[in-house]
Amino acid sequence: AWEKRVRSSASARRVSSGKSVLVTGAAGFVGMHVAAALKRRGDGVLGLDNFNAYYDPALKRARRALLDRAGVFVVEGDINDAALLRKLFDVVPFTHVVHLAAQAGVRHALADPGSYIHSNVAGLVAVLEAAKAADPQPAVVWASSSSVYGLNSKVPFSEADRTDRPASLYAATKKAGEEIAHVYNHIYGLSITGLRFFTVYGPWGRPDMAYFFFTRDILRGKPVSIFEGPDHATVARDFTYIDDIVRGCVAAVDHAGKSTGSGGKKHGSAPFRIYNLGNTSPVSVSDLVSILEQLLKVKAVKKLVKMPRNGDVQFTHANITLAQKELRYRPTTGLQSGLKKFVRWYLDYYSSSLSKHGSKGRTTN
Ligand code: NAD
Repeated sequence: AWEKRVRSSASARRVSSGKSVLVTGAAGFVGMHVAAALKRRGDGVLGLDNFNAYYDPALKRARRALLDRAGVFVVEGDINDAALLRKLFDVVPFTHVVHLAAQAGVRHALADPGSYIHSNVAGLVAVLEAAKAADPQPAVVWASSSSVYGLNSKVPFSEADRTDRPASLYAATKKAGEEIAHVYNHIYGLSITGLRFFTVYGPWGRPDMAYFFFTRDILRGKPVSIFEGPDHATVARDFTYIDDIVRGCVAAVDHAGKSTGSGGKKHGSAPFRIYNLGNTSPVSVSDLVSILEQLLKVKAVKKLVKMPRNGDVQFTHANITLAQKELRYRPTTGLQSGLKKFVRWYLDYYSSSLSKHGSKGRTTN
């Protein structure tokens, strides 16, 4: 019965699609949206997620329920489980892997550094090993991060900029991931595309991210801490709306089989590519709070705090010329309208989960 569910979830609805995609981290924020989008357009999609408790597992289960209704089965398991991966690749000849499972967030590394090595380094190797051994070999599209730019002070960040000064263990594992991915391209000819996401936000988002817990704290009348850099310098992020990121991921899947453009290195015909997926318009954290105050119609209790040295960087800003050219990536949602959609989802989700499950919508941050 399990095999049957795996097979039917992974088989394309449109024969013309010909794509069968394994999405790791499918119960996660980006993974859920990408899996749903691929399924909607007719690809076969199977999810994999270990449902870990880094943040509220009820939110992950709710995302799984949504995918279930869309016809996507999410297998519960760890990407480090080589036997499970082998079994999945035995049952389904995946054409693509969209690898989004990871230990995300920068601050959690202070408490649990090992989880970053487990999921972002060992886990990535396990996924690449499975892809390498599979017949046919799937093209791999995976999430790196804007955090690889670390203490680079040249903005906006371009793919060729230096990435040798990470500010967090999270960033270091993503940077290591890019180098590990290169080896699998070089030796085994795997087609690999790394996507450097810039601060993704939107409905079904991650409770450990500032826009999410600011919303919760503003509604509860709790103070929100606004970080400042040295000499009161602004802390800003290139916030990118989830639908824009999803379009970038889907375009990367479609581009993965094509031969190398200017952005990659060649191994036979298998490309190795890295793209920034950002929004090219950084917004300060205090402007983020103002927009939330306006949308929630509640005044925030603001606390200005000197940014601790805990892994965060002061500023991010994407140059997206390469993704524009090769993926036709065009972000279209500004922060104001994206947050409006997030807030609408937040109010709806937490009021209905309150009434349905009697839970307080508790989150971990
Ligand atoms: P998320 O935490 O919501 O999703 C990750 C999912 O992976 C979770 O559901 C988790 O349970 C699962 N997972 C973690 N370790 C696993 C393991 N060992 N085996 C199986 N499943 C595992 O995070 P997200 O925001 O959706 O991020 C998706 C990807 O994008 C991650 O690789 C993240 O590092 C990257 N990224 C995200 C952002 C952002 O702003 N959201 C920015 C840059 C990069």
